[in-house]
Amino acid sequence: MSQSDLAEKAGVSQATISRLENAAGDVAVDLRTVHRLSAALRIPVSALIPPREEVPDRGALPLMMAPTEHDEFWVVCTNPMCSDNEIIARRGAKPEVVWAWDEFDGGIFEQIQYCSECGGKLLKCCPKCGKWFDRGDTKYCMRCGTRVIPELSDETLGVLVRRKLGEEIG
Ligand SMILES: [Zn+2]
Ligand SMILES: [Zn+2]
Repeated sequence: MSQSDLAEKAGVSQATISRLENAAGDVAVDLRTVHRLSAALRIPVSALIPPREEVPDRGALPLMMAPTEHDEFWVVCTNPMCSDNEIIARRGAKPEVVWAWDEFDGGIFEQIQYCSECGGKLLKCCPKCGKWFDRGDTKYCMRCGTRVIPELSDETLGVLVRRKLGEEIG
């Protein structure tokens, strides 16, 4: 989508979009503009507003569009307790979680929201730059490098390992 297409679709001026795309770091923007852009791009408002302390320092990245029906996108449930996840516990090595990534057709990007196992909100795009995942089994956004999979504490890993052992025994 070009700047002028997006401007027309969102009902904002092309100058506004150009200013947002070329902005380095912080930029003041009317919340209504953000809502219009999020609707036009079919991505959540949160994907357009980086948390304040996490403004990308490599300059602002261009806004992302949702996948089309010709794309495949990947989602992951980031709830460490989700029973869809696998935990690998090897003697002498730190336990590892194998996160349950799932692939879907881009045409249903909007419909995919919650994990069918635990009901948790699925992660389907980078919380910082809004890029949807065009492959699974990754810990980082392939676009901006932000870590998207939570780093688990030893306590949480311990709980997961004990649960797995419990399942195997009982
Ligand atoms: Zn889940
Ligand atoms: Zn990203």
